[in-house]
Amino acid sequence: MLSFVYILIILHFRSSFSNKVPKMETGLHERDRAGVQDFVLLENYKSEDAFIDNLKKRFQENLIYVSVRSRCPTASLTHSLFFHLQTYIGQVLISVNPYKQLPIYSDAHIKEYRNKHFYEMPPHIFAVTDNAFRSLIEENRGQCVLISGESGSGKTEASKKVLQYIAACSGHQTTVEGVKDKLLKSNPVLEAFGNAKTNRNDNSSRFGKYMDIQFDYKGAPIGGNILNYLLEKSRVVAQTAGERNFHIFYQLVAGADATLLQELRLERALDSYSYLSDGLNGSVASINDADNFKQVQQALSVIDFSAEEQREIFAIVASILHLGNIGFNEVEGNAQVNNRDLVITVSRLLGVNASELGAALTHRTIDARGDVVTSPLNQELAIYARDALAKAVYDRMFSWLVQRLNISLQAKETRGTRNNVMGILDIYGFEIFKRNNFEQFCINFCNEKLQQLFIELTLKSEQDEYRREGIEWIPVEYFDNKVICNLIEEKHKGIISILDEECLRPGEPTDRTFLEKLTNKLAEHQHYVCHEKAPIHVQKIMGRDEFRLVHYAGEVTYSVNGFLDKNNDLLFRDLKETLSKAGNTIVRSCFPEQELRSKKRPETAISQFKTSLNNLMDILMCKEPSYIRCIKPNDLQSPGIFDDQLVLHQVKYLGLMENLRVRRAGFAYRRSYELFLNRYKCLSKNTWPNYKGAGGAKAAVQLLVKDLGYDNEQYKLGETKLFIRWPRTLFDTEDAYQA
Ligand code: ATP
Ligand code: MG
Repeated sequence: MLSFVYILIILHFRSSFSNKVPKMETGLHERDRAGVQDFVLLENYKSEDAFIDNLKKRFQENLIYVSVRSRCPTASLTHSLFFHLQTYIGQVLISVNPYKQLPIYSDAHIKEYRNKHFYEMPPHIFAVTDNAFRSLIEENRGQCVLISGESGSGKTEASKKVLQYIAACSGHQTTVEGVKDKLLKSNPVLEAFGNAKTNRNDNSSRFGKYMDIQFDYKGAPIGGNILNYLLEKSRVVAQTAGERNFHIFYQLVAGADATLLQELRLERALDSYSYLSDGLNGSVASINDADNFKQVQQALSVIDFSAEEQREIFAIVASILHLGNIGFNEVEGNAQVNNRDLVITVSRLLGVNASELGAALTHRTIDARGDVVTSPLNQELAIYARDALAKAVYDRMFSWLVQRLNISLQAKETRGTRNNVMGILDIYGFEIFKRNNFEQFCINFCNEKLQQLFIELTLKSEQDEYRREGIEWIPVEYFDNKVICNLIEEKHKGIISILDEECLRPGEPTDRTFLEKLTNKLAEHQHYVCHEKAPIHVQKIMGRDEFRLVHYAGEVTYSVNGFLDKNNDLLFRDLKETLSKAGNTIVRSCFPEQELRSKKRPETAISQFKTSLNNLMDILMCKEPSYIRCIKPNDLQSPGIFDDQLVLHQVKYLGLMENLRVRRAGFAYRRSYELFLNRYKCLSKNTWPNYKGAGGAKAAVQLLVKDLGYDNEQYKLGETKLFIRWPRTLFDTEDAYQA
C-alpha cells in the first residue's frame, strides 16, 4: 500500500515537469482571452511596448488584473501534498483602474476563488488575498498586502476588496460576524474624516493607513488594529482651487437632521463657512454627502461609539467650521475678535470658557525660564493661532478616532495567534502637483520608502541570494532609489536633518534660510536640483523659493514656503491650556495637561513621520508580502481611456519590467537541503529511510532530484539551498495557455 502511494506521488511530481500543459493548468477562463494574464508568459518580455500592449488589450476587455509571478514546479498538482510548494516569493498583481463598476466582485466570484490555487483562476485581488490567507492559516506565516500606486490609481478600492474577501470567506460564528462588521465599518468612518476630493481623485486618502487583521487558528478574524500616518491637516483651513476640505464637513452640513443642526448652530449653506470656501465650494457629482453622513452615523453605532461620543465628535467638527469664521480687527497692533458670538458658540461646543478662549486667540504667554510673560498678538498672528487651533483639534481628533476604533477592534483572546496577522497597507500615492508643499514632500518621501521596500524584497534580496548561494545569474539592472531615501533621511546630511536643524536654530530661521542651507549642502547631489544650477528649461518654471527632487517616480518641484512652520507644528501654549480643561471629553483627552508641564521640546512633524515610517518598514519586513501595484490609465478619472504614455511612465517607475525579468529568469522554489530532505526524502530509494550513504545533504538532494527526473536546467544547487526553476518548457507553450 505504502509503495503504491509512493509511486503515485512520484508520478504526480514528474507530471509537473512534462512539456504538456494540462488544461486545468492553463488557468484561463473562457472570458479571459485578451493578452496574457500573467506577464511571465509574455513572449517579448523585455519590450516595454509589448508590456503596455498587453495591459491595454486586457483593459479594453475589462480585464483589469495581470499577475507577475513565478509558476511553481507543482503547478499541475491538485493534490495538496505539495501545497506549500506554491510560489512563496511575494506575488505581484498589477491592477489598472477601470473607473467603472465591473461585475467581478460578487459573492459568486468570491466563491470561485475560494481555496483555489492561484494558477487555476484568472488573476484577481481575490486570488492574491486567498493565497495570502491560506499561507497565513496553513503555514502560520504573517502576511501583508502592500498596495501602491499614484493618487487615484485604485489603492483604497483594492484594500476594500481585500477586506471584503476576508470577511466573506472566514468563519461565520456570531462573535466573528461582529468583528467583521466592525472591520468593514471602520472604512466609511475613516474615509469621512481622512479623505477629501482633490484634483486627482474625488475620494483621495489624505492619511496613510496600515490595518492588521488578527485571526484565530481556524482562520476566523478576531480583531484588528489600525495605524494611521500623517494626516494632511493643512486642508482643514485651506484648499487648492477645485479641491475640498475633508468629507465629514460637507456630510455634516448636508446630512445632519434639523435637531442636530440646531444643536450645532449650523446652517445648510456651505458658503456660510470660510474653511469650506477656498477651493471647490460645493458638492461633487460622484459623492452624496447626505447619504454618506447617514452611513457614517450607522457605522459609528456598529463600532460601539456611544451617542455621547458621537455628539462630541460632531460638536468638534462643527466647532471648527465656526472657528474658521472668527475674524480679527487690529487696534494699535493688537488683535481683537470681531465676532464674540462665534467665540461663545465654539466655547459651548467644546465646553471651554468663552473669555479664556477669546483671550487665548489674541494673546500669547511665554514661559522663559520661569518668567511668565503674556503679550498681545497682532492680526496676522491671531489668524495664525486660530488656524493652528483648528488644525490641531482636527488632527488630534482623527488620531483619537483611530485609537477609539482600535479599542473596539481589539481581539478578546489572542493566545497562540501572534503570527496570525494579515496587514493591509493603503497609503497616499505619489503626488506631483503644480505647487508642491511640505505635505507632498512627506507623501513622496513615504512612497520612496515603500518603493525601497519593494526593491529590497523583490529585486535586491532575490538577486543577492543567488549571488550568496553561488548560483550562476546574469544580474538584472534596476534603479535603486536608496540614494533618494538617503538624500531625504540620512542623519546629519539629509533634507530632514537640515530642516530640523533649521527649526531648532536660535536666531531667526526662515524658509529662505532653510533653502539656502539645503542648496549649500546638497547642490552637488544628483537628485537635488536648486534654482541656480537647474537647466534653463527647468529654471524657467522654478521659483527662487523652490527646490526640485528627482524622485524615483518623476521630478517634483517643492516650494519651501511653510516648511519651517509646518514642521514646528506650533500651537500656542494658551490655546493648549484652554483645551486641556475642555468639557468635551475627546478634546480634553487630546490635549493632556502633562503636555503643558513637559519641558521637552516636542518632536518635529517630519521626525515623527520618519520614525513612524521606519517602524512601519520593520513591521512589513517581518511579514510575507503580496503586492498590488495600481495603475491609473488616464488623468481624467474616466472609463475606457488608456493613455499609453501615462501608463508607461508608471510601469517604468514602479520597476515592473525589472520585476518581470527577475521573475522570468529566477527560481520559483527554494529550500535548505535539510528541510527539503525532511519533507521529500521518502520519494527516492537513495534517500529513504535515510541518506547517510549519500555523502551529505547536498549530495543527497542531488540524488533525489535526479531520481525525480529533473534535468540540469530545471534546478540549481546552491551553497545551502536547492533552487528549482519552474519548467522553462512552459514558456514555449504559450499557445496552450491561450487555448
Ligand atoms: P489616493 O492616493 O488619492 O487615495 P487611491 O489610489 O486610493 O488614490 P481610489 O480612491 O482607490 O484611489 O480610487 C479612485 C477612484 O477610482 C474610486 O473612487 C473609484 O471611482 C475608481 N476605482 C478604483 N478602483 C476601482 C475598481 N476596482 N473598480 C471600479 N472603480 C474603481
Ligand atoms: Mg486612497
